[in-house]
Amino acid sequence: MRNENDILPERAESIRFSQCSGDGSGIKCEAESISGSVSQRACVFCGARVVLNPITDAFHIVHGPIGCSSYTWDIRGSLSSGEDIYRNSYSTDLRERDVIFGGEKKLTAAIDEVMSMHSPKLIFIYATCIVGVIGDDIVAVCKAAEEKYAIRVIPVKSPGFSGTKKTGYKAACNAIMSLITPEVLPPKEVGVNILGDFNLAGEMWIIKNYLRILGVKAISNITGDATSESLKKAPSAQLNLVQCAGSMTYLAKQMEEDFDIPFIKVSFFGVNDTSDSLLRIAYAMGDAEMVRKAKAFIEDEKNRVIPLLNKYKRNFEGKKAAIYVGGGFKAISLIRQFKEFGIKTVMVGTQTGNKEDYEMIQSLVEDDAVVLDDANPAELESFMKEMGADILVGGVKERPLAYKLGIAFCDHNHERKHPLAGYEGTLNFASEINLSMNSPVWEIISPGGNKNV
Ligand code: SF4
Repeated sequence: MRNENDILPERAESIRFSQCSGDGSGIKCEAESISGSVSQRACVFCGARVVLNPITDAFHIVHGPIGCSSYTWDIRGSLSSGEDIYRNSYSTDLRERDVIFGGEKKLTAAIDEVMSMHSPKLIFIYATCIVGVIGDDIVAVCKAAEEKYAIRVIPVKSPGFSGTKKTGYKAACNAIMSLITPEVLPPKEVGVNILGDFNLAGEMWIIKNYLRILGVKAISNITGDATSESLKKAPSAQLNLVQCAGSMTYLAKQMEEDFDIPFIKVSFFGVNDTSDSLLRIAYAMGDAEMVRKAKAFIEDEKNRVIPLLNKYKRNFEGKKAAIYVGGGFKAISLIRQFKEFGIKTVMVGTQTGNKEDYEMIQSLVEDDAVVLDDANPAELESFMKEMGADILVGGVKERPLAYKLGIAFCDHNHERKHPLAGYEGTLNFASEINLSMNSPVWEIISPGGNKNV
């Protein structure tokens, strides 16, 4: 039985037992994590890095100790069609001496070194925790470097402790606005920007192909497979499509205000969300021919994909899923996707969801589902066991937790190597869920089921 006494009093408001407050108003979210507690949530710097790292020709200098630089391409699955400089991380490797005497000279030397060895067009300088503590003026260092080298050197104010992962998204969005804001607005083009797809395993290319089939021109990708020059074209778009709402709604609102570009939220996870999004894009473009093409394409794809998905469904009967992902919008898409598969979602949580997201989640899951914000490993473990989850969908930090419990796992985060977006991605997702959940290994390690490991 669930034991609410096991939960720290400070945490109780962030974990809503649906049977206790069914109106969707009871959850505490968008708050900073409790100092000293172990949270699954990533830090502010990580949030900024998630958004900016996929810009393929940018140099990323992490001003901080070497450990912060571990967010490199090799643990992110963002692909490029051209440049690959973004696969490298540069660090000022701050040590005790720098903490005492300041790290600005070291940062200037790092920029000089990068300039002497490469020809960057764009450098991002990230402030990490220790820089926030010692107070290095990275804005002044960046300004001096821009004047010296006549390139863009953009500060990203992202000390890890200075807020939530969402604060890092905002810092990254501000950096993008600083890069793309023109002196004079360009004339509008018939086309869209794609915001919040990071080209994980080539997903941006799948979405762009769909748009091509509909006749919709993609002007700028923000930020999957983007370059500094392609980003600068963004102000001319007629419409913004926001895929990762958690990270990009802030940027979309800024662009609406400054460049007069409206936005719609879209999702390409699952057959229904993909179909619905394509149709809404076509309608938003206000072109009857695009709507006709969208309807025809959706019908063809549904006819192709649904019979294949139906074959998996018999293997999913009676299965239960747990979800713990970064953003609320992805969690909502995943619940819908599991519904399409006939799988019940029994636990769902996010790192950065807002009240609106949690209200939607509440309306999609059954009354006994556990919904939680900013969880820690012990809470995830406790609820997965209690609810009898057969699979956990999460990211790199959740994988070992699932395996230690003897529960199947599906990586739906930045580390994965195969696409899960669009119709083909839905097939990949069904295949992976099936293989992981029905693997004979669970029966070997826990004969009779994996519920009580
Ligand atoms: S910025 Fe701070 S919290 Fe983030 S990785 Fe570096 S030390 Fe850790």
